[in-house]
Formats: sequence, C-alpha cells, structure tokens
Amino acid sequence: MNIHEYQAKAVLKEFGVPVSKGVPILKAEEAEAAAKQLGGPLWVVKSQIHAGGRGKGKFKEASAGEKGGVRLSKSIDETKQFVKEMLGATLVTEQTGPAGKQVNRIYLEDGSDIEKEFYLSLLVDRETSRVAFVVSTEGGMNIEEVAHNTPEKIVTFSVDPATGVMGHHGRTVAQALGLKGDLAKQAEKLITQLYTAFIAKDMDMLEINPLIISKQGELKCLDAKMSFDSNALYRHPEIVALRDTTEEDAKEIEASKYDLAYIALDGTIGCMVNGAGLAMATLDIIKLYGESPANFLDVGGGATEEKVTAAFKIITSDPNVKGILVNIFGGIMKCDIIAAGVVAAVKAVGLKVPLVVRLEGTNVEEGKKIIRESGLNVLPADDLDDAAQKIVNAVKGK
Ligand code: GDP
Ligand code: MG
Repeated sequence: MNIHEYQAKAVLKEFGVPVSKGVPILKAEEAEAAAKQLGGPLWVVKSQIHAGGRGKGKFKEASAGEKGGVRLSKSIDETKQFVKEMLGATLVTEQTGPAGKQVNRIYLEDGSDIEKEFYLSLLVDRETSRVAFVVSTEGGMNIEEVAHNTPEKIVTFSVDPATGVMGHHGRTVAQALGLKGDLAKQAEKLITQLYTAFIAKDMDMLEINPLIISKQGELKCLDAKMSFDSNALYRHPEIVALRDTTEEDAKEIEASKYDLAYIALDGTIGCMVNGAGLAMATLDIIKLYGESPANFLDVGGGATEEKVTAAFKIITSDPNVKGILVNIFGGIMKCDIIAAGVVAAVKAVGLKVPLVVRLEGTNVEEGKKIIRESGLNVLPADDLDDAAQKIVNAVKGK
C-alpha cells in the first residue's frame, strides 16, 4: 500500500526525522491561510499523487500553466495561483503513464535553501533477507539512470536485524555522501531514525529523493515515498486509515474485497488463472504469441463459485479487454467449480468478447462437460500453448 508524500512525512516526523513544515490543502480557498501560517519567504507547492517525477511532470490542461507538479513560489499570491492551477488538473509524469493522475490534494511546504541534493532509500532486500540502504550523491535524479550510467556512485549495504543500525553504517553513509563533522553526526542519527521507522511501521520501501543539506547546514528529507507490506497492514490501522482509494485502480479495490490477487495491466487479454506461477506463465505466453495481458489474476487454490463470478465481472469491466483466457490447473481447485463459476458469471454479465477456456487436472471431464452443455460460445483449448494461440488469434480477428 502506498501513501502520499505529506502523510509519509507525518509518519517520519513521529520518529524525529527532519522534514520541512507543511500544510496539506484540499480546496483552493485554504491556500491563503496555509501560506500565511508557513510565513514564507519561499513556499513549495507540491502535487500529491501516488507517483514520482512530479517536478519534471507536465499538466494536461493548459489552464494549469507550463510549470511542473512541484513549484517554488515567492509570494502568497503566487502560491494561491499555483494551488488554483494544479488542484483538479491531471499531472503526467514518467511514473503515471500517459493517462496521468488527477491532483486532488496539494502539500504546501516551507521552502528550503538547498546546498546539495542526495539520494537515500531503504528497501527489503530479498537476497539477504535484510533491510538494505541505497545511498548516492546523485540526488534529485532518476536513480535508475544513475545505476545504469554511473553505478560507482551508488553505495548499498544491508543491516543485520539482530543488531540494527550501528556506528559503522553511519560512517559508511557519511563517507558515501562526503559528509564530515556535524553533518556526519546528523547522517548517523538520521539513518537510525529511518531504520527504526521502517521496521516499526512494516514498510517495504522508503525513498528520500532528495535528501538535502540546507544552506543552514542541516540534513533534511525533502521528498518521501513510502510503501507498506500489505501482509502486515492488520497491525497498523493508523496506516490503513491513510489509504487514498482515489489513487488506486477501481478494479483492484473490488478484487481486494474478494481476496483475489488482481493487478491491472494495460493489454487486451483478460486472464483468469489459479496459482501465481501459472498466472505469470500465462502472461508470458500471451506476450510470446504477440498480444498483451490486461491483468494478472490469481483466483487462488480454494476459490468458490462466488469468487470466480466476481473475478469474471472484474475482468469484463475493463473496457480494454478484447478477449478472455481462463487457464486452470485443477489441484486443490477443482475444474468443475471453475467451470460452473465461469458459466454463472457469463450468464450474469454477458459475454461480448471471445473466451478461451483451458482446464486440466482434478475433475477435468466434469468441468469440460459443464462448459459444453452450457450452450455458451466458449473455445475449448487442450494446453497452454493452444489456449494462448487461440485467444491471440481470436483477438486479432483471425
Ligand atoms: P518529485 O519530482 O516527485 O520527485 O518531487 P520532489 O519532492 O523530489 O521535488 C522535485 C524537486 O523540487 C526537488 O528535487 C528539488 O530540486 C525541488 N524542491 C523541492 N522542495 C524544495 C525546496 O524546499 N526548496 C527548493 N529550493 N527546491 C525544492
Ligand atoms: Mg523526489
């Protein structure tokens, strides 16, 4: 689960992490009071969307002006103007995709005088089963580019969970960023606070880009991107309360109600599969035959007819779906249950696109019989290869 920058900064503040003062704004009328409260002389007007690259982003609407989604302002009037322009407009960044995201919230911050910008992030490193730090002097930039072009400018290390952050970690960060004296001490304190927050809140990613040294000689987190391990959310009702469902895909929200592992993608073939591995293989094979999947969907091992119906409805609600591939290997999941679910769902929601069903495993004959006798226009397939070719051909009108 992701949260907004202003919410992430509030979480960090609880742990003593240095961030700028700021006020969230939901309506343009609130801008003046917020600007006065912060006092100036420099303000930062920041679009709050669940995507990075806002500063270099562009608004779709001409009325939002030429500047990006993060703007420096030097007066209360200018601040008001920026808030008015950005609220409700659609911001397109490298991370939003071409459709962009509507800006429904603004974070107004006290502007900092920047001396230097760095990059710092924490993430769960699966290889070492530890929390890893990634640090670089190349802040404010696209870290993937830095990693690609100048990998020597990135320093990483992981922290032993038994000891937590130790003095030598602090020195590694200070050295990587070229910090000495008081700034080195600030860095050591900062990484301890960040690590503590990361563990306490069950985060799975925390990215500070940029981490800055201000002209006043203070280390400060100027941007914060935070995401949480969904499996641990039951421990954090205070984090769940920060969820902004307007930032999420409506289909994914619906799927989560039925405990379906569904991820929306941008292709044309809707997929209903059991088992994450088989679902991944299905996406790959669709690509191999020249089309793209519209979603990842693992209905799980113990899916009921109701769950299958819900899954089918979610798939068909996507206007990009031009064909559907049901690929089930019946192990714990029985083929006849899936077949009955598919038939019930098709009867309930109708079928406007070609449907290929491949069933194998437990009760496969019963399953095939249900499909056959349903009178529905379903293309049966024998194996995964056959199924993928059939649905790709059907979508391409062959
Ligand atoms: P992002 O583009 O979505 O990553 O948004 P950021 O919060 O990182 O802001 C983009 C850029 O705006 C930063 O890299 C900074 O260069 C600049 N910026 C953000 N806050 C301030 C500030 O308080 N003072 C100044 N001078 N620049 C800022
Ligand atoms: Mg940033």
